[in-house]
Amino acid sequence: MHKDTTNILKEFWGYDGFRGSQKMIIDTVISGKDVLALMPTGGGKSVCYQVPALAMEGICIVISPLVALIQDQVAQLKKRNIKAIALTGGIHPNEVNDLLDNCVYGNYKFLYLSPERLQQNVVRERIQQMNVNLIAIDEAHCISQWGNDFRPAYLECSILRELVPKTPMMALTATATPRVVEDIVENLELNEVRIFKDSFSRSNIAFKVKRSEDKLYQLKKYMGKIPGSGIVYVRSRKMCISLANFLIKNGISASFYHGGIPKKDKEKKLDRWLSDEDRIMVATNAFGMGVDKPDVRLVIHYQIPDSLESYFQEAGRAGRDGKPSTAIILASNEDEDRAKQQFLSTLPDVAFVKKVYSKLNNYFQISYGELVSEPLAFKFNEFCTHYGFNPNMAFNALRALDQNSVLSLAENFKEKTTLQFVASKAEIFNYLDKNRKTAPIIQTILRTYGGITDHETKINLYMLSQKTGTGEKHLKHILQQLANDNIAAYQNHNSDLEITFLVPREDEHTINPFAKKIKDFNQVKQQNMAAMLGYISNRNICRSVYLLNYFGEKNAEKCGTCDICTKKNKEAPPHDLEKRILELLELRPYSSRQLERITGANELQLLNLLERLLEERRVSINLKNEYIKT
Ligand code: ADP
Repeated sequence: MHKDTTNILKEFWGYDGFRGSQKMIIDTVISGKDVLALMPTGGGKSVCYQVPALAMEGICIVISPLVALIQDQVAQLKKRNIKAIALTGGIHPNEVNDLLDNCVYGNYKFLYLSPERLQQNVVRERIQQMNVNLIAIDEAHCISQWGNDFRPAYLECSILRELVPKTPMMALTATATPRVVEDIVENLELNEVRIFKDSFSRSNIAFKVKRSEDKLYQLKKYMGKIPGSGIVYVRSRKMCISLANFLIKNGISASFYHGGIPKKDKEKKLDRWLSDEDRIMVATNAFGMGVDKPDVRLVIHYQIPDSLESYFQEAGRAGRDGKPSTAIILASNEDEDRAKQQFLSTLPDVAFVKKVYSKLNNYFQISYGELVSEPLAFKFNEFCTHYGFNPNMAFNALRALDQNSVLSLAENFKEKTTLQFVASKAEIFNYLDKNRKTAPIIQTILRTYGGITDHETKINLYMLSQKTGTGEKHLKHILQQLANDNIAAYQNHNSDLEITFLVPREDEHTINPFAKKIKDFNQVKQQNMAAMLGYISNRNICRSVYLLNYFGEKNAEKCGTCDICTKKNKEAPPHDLEKRILELLELRPYSSRQLERITGANELQLLNLLERLLEERRVSINLKNEYIKT
């Protein structure tokens, strides 16, 4: 007998009733069947597996892709006095054992794991000893190579089928096209699965595309107007910084966030934004997953995202509280070409991936058959310059290697600065004498690091800049000058990526097994981009309907709030235009461009009219895309 689920919802969450398909999903897993739950962001997926897990005896295993997501979930459960454990990376093996012990004997209700953990024997063995009541696979689209966030380690999830064969499995996701759904069912080996799909409709978000040749002006205008929080998505770190500065200069409270920022600063920036100290976050796609801020009023994409999946997910961070919000793509005429150029021309083919892999091995001086297993700090830009690689293409090649488990890639910004005074004492004194301005700073360095005249010493630029009241940039300049004047040896290493090789170097033989996958992947990327560009150039179909159709919802209703719906209402075409068009089409077929030229009509009005005539079947389109009278 299990406990009443509505009571559990009330007791632990304080909610009076279930939403959408929650109740049906919960009842289905409790009856022992597998479930695939497709729900929009903010739809309440967690409750779907957490409530039944509490209703039944035993422990629920949750697979989740991101440490941040896992930690957040476990913290939330603990707040509700529910016993939960997170097994993420960086835990000492002894501790792993203790944690797993707790899951076997300790009355814990949830064990959260990253998929990589399932590769460990100790984890597999202990799972078999647990009384597992439910397996929940969060962000299940990560298992599909057609999805946007494909994580090969997710394929390991099917091992759970063998470990605890009788336990029902629930897969959950907020982004899944029909093809991804098929993949999830197949790869997780879901049995007689019941699929529940709540509409992905986000009716409180007005989706818009704003064409403008002065996007900065538009950005300032929109962000200046909104009352609460906002996010601006861009595609490069440089752009993050420059747009945040631009907003600040214009009196708008803003900050920036990208993958290259040290972890501590990331947390600080996130906290400031969450607590409304900074209003607008300008970010790359490194920002967002697991960020649950309910009152984001506006999400602007300043550059075109690479797929509608990414777009919908990022735009969906607006209005989680259900209040009216807006998601805008700012696009100039050149943007579409640029996006194509940026994405399609930088998709690496198999030969290029092989080349990057081979150069990477040379770069780290790894010989054939060798495996260096410790993480290696990597200066990506230097690598690209050295071998003449286009950085976007090289990064995509590294990502392909990462996705196919040849190596593991971590964005990890580290700066290491070392200094050693090599001149004699007399020469140093002489130097200090001649450089009165910088002397106090140099003296501080000498005093802070005792052995710095004898050996190469790692110095902390941040601390020194605090101590001396000098900016880090200026400090570096002084150190460089010391080196130029032969007083000290100075080295400043930057690494922005960390690479861990996972298999020994075998050149072609390493890459060949997944050559086809690389080709398929490129094809997916091309299709994704085409759908994205289709969304932007679309001038007739309601934005929300367009997005929902893409996610397999055929009968979506018009939103009434997107740029297309609102323009249509405002600009009904005059009646005589209709008459004139029908007269023209009586004579011969015309393209919409030709009709626009001949009638001098406003493009949008004309397109709206043609769409209506099509719907009413008074005109149709021939193979040359021309309109004909029916
Ligand atoms: P998702 O993972 O689908 O994006 P969450 O599980 O984070 O969404 O839920 C979004 C918010 O909705 C959370 O604050 C959650 O507590 C709340 N929520 C979930 N189910 C209900 C419900 N039945 N009634 C009211 N609020 C709910």
